[in-house]
Amino acid sequence: MSDKPWYHEGLRFKCTGCGACCTGDPGYVWVNKAEIELLAKTVDMSAADFKKTFTRKVGIRRSLIELANGDCVLFDRITRHCKVYKARPRQCRTWPFWRSNLRSLKTWEETCRECSGAGRGPLVSADQIEAQQGITTV
Ligand code: SF4
Repeated sequence: MSDKPWYHEGLRFKCTGCGACCTGDPGYVWVNKAEIELLAKTVDMSAADFKKTFTRKVGIRRSLIELANGDCVLFDRITRHCKVYKARPRQCRTWPFWRSNLRSLKTWEETCRECSGAGRGPLVSADQIEAQQGITTV
């Protein structure tokens, strides 16, 4: 049996900016101390204020708050874009190449149905995908 991952020839991805991954079903966007500090700086707040205003404690971790409709608290409803895109946490930066999405061709195909950019656009090599998985916690 080959020890190559099933996606060894790479996978395609180009974000279309549809915003589907920032809205909808409930979930968590995990943020660590360094990410909170960077996000706070980006919106010109202290880390303590940012933490109080935009995050919630879940067990021993922190997640960005979600609004009642499922939108991420940092998603701009008017422009339909992330307000802190350049400083977005690693969970957002590594989407859609999460371990959970890459478990099999079937889970990847499901991801492609949820994310209009997955499975389209330029080819991302298996090495680049693996490098992202190394920093993914999802
Ligand atoms: S769901 Fe996919 S295409 Fe849409 S904003 Fe998120 S990453 Fe981009």
